Amino acid sequence: MKRREVVVIGGGVAGSAAAIRLAQNGQDVLLLEKEPAAHDKVCGEFIAADAQHYLRELGIDLAALDAERITGIRITRGQRTSSARLPFSALSLSRRVLDEALLVRAQDQGARVWRGAAVTALIKGPECWHIEVAGHGVIQAETIFLATGKHDLREWRRPRGTQNDFLGFKCHFLLTPTQRVALAEHVEMTLFNGGYAGLGLVESGKANLCLVVTRRHFAMYGKKWDGLLGAILKAAPLLAERLAGAEACWPRPLSIFGIPYGFVYRVPSKTSPGLYRLGDQMAVIPSFSGYGMSIALHTAFLAAECHLRGGNANVYHRQARSDLLPLVRSASLLSKMAEFPWAQRGMLFASQIRPELITMIARQNRISTLQATLRPVC
Ligand SMILES: Cc1cc2nc3c(=O)[nH]c(=O)nc-3n(C[C@H](O)[C@H](O)[C@H](O)COP(=O)(O)OP(=O)(O)OC[C@H]3O[C@@H](n4cnc5c(N)ncnc54)[C@H](O)[C@@H]3O)c2cc1C
Repeated sequence: MKRREVVVIGGGVAGSAAAIRLAQNGQDVLLLEKEPAAHDKVCGEFIAADAQHYLRELGIDLAALDAERITGIRITRGQRTSSARLPFSALSLSRRVLDEALLVRAQDQGARVWRGAAVTALIKGPECWHIEVAGHGVIQAETIFLATGKHDLREWRRPRGTQNDFLGFKCHFLLTPTQRVALAEHVEMTLFNGGYAGLGLVESGKANLCLVVTRRHFAMYGKKWDGLLGAILKAAPLLAERLAGAEACWPRPLSIFGIPYGFVYRVPSKTSPGLYRLGDQMAVIPSFSGYGMSIALHTAFLAAECHLRGGNANVYHRQARSDLLPLVRSASLLSKMAEFPWAQRGMLFASQIRPELITMIARQNRISTLQATLRPVC
């Protein structure tokens, strides 16, 4: 059985980015992705400036993929709306298109990519890793890059985060031409009792509606998507206006549960060397920040850099934790507050009289500080 230098498990943004960096530097990389073809994912599809920077470095041309430009944000609750300019020009592109472009790029750069290859077990042997892949048998590797995102491998489960009871939903819509024009260049965040929703245009004239809601409120809304959406639209006139006459692109939305918001991996005193956790396996930032992909890409770059310098995964994990902890903590604090209607009303009121507050929060979320940490850490 051939032993691989590196096996990357998971072909989302983090896994593909790491595979590209490693393959470009001459490593023998095998990437295993469980889905057999391009697919949609629960995500707001907002690409912050930092994620754009990393994607450019990887050779991904977002404009050529027809990404939509976003320069402003509107925040709304009930009848009230505040708006602000973003401190950077963001982009928006569906994950179906972005993740596929990254996988193709990884392959072009020399990584071997297996699609429809679900890892069912990962075991550390005395000399190497043993990876059990459904339909492919067992593969051996010297180093693992674990990038399975929201899904945990058995035996490698993440502990809970600080906010664990949110459910996520996402659906694409075809808006009417008038509403498409009204939404252009903006992301609109709707605050409602028990959660928040983001609406923005993506490629091919579609709009992405992505929302999170607490389990308790979902139960109150009847545990059904139609009941949930109906209740939100009743309380949110701006979103109702946008979706009036719109056509849902799928019969049912995509959904996800058990998101460990606020989780940041801490290296235990006794760890398995040779395993790098990337993306959501390293840290999970609350969704409203629109920052998960930036973090996924940052961890991929940092881990690849560390590995290429002959470094140690524990050094990488400590560096990534110190880079990410302040960002995840401040976003989690806001996210916890946003669970309460009085706090939502307060946030909206404050942002109406001081719109620059929104710009300030968005600016804090820039990873430029993180980019600087791409110094040799290993
Ligand atoms: C509701 C919501 C909204 C969000 N909105 C935004 C946003 O607007 N902007 C932003 O930047 N971030 C956003 N995020 C966060 C972002 O989606 C994640 O942080 C990002 O996708 C993490 O990338 P990843 O590569 O770690 O994981 P993923 O993108 O989840 O990729 C993991 C990959 O691993 C594969 N996989 C899983 N298990 C296995 C297995 N056993 N074997 C093989 N392959 C496997 C999966 O099929 C998948 O392709 C949002 C998240 C949520 C929940």
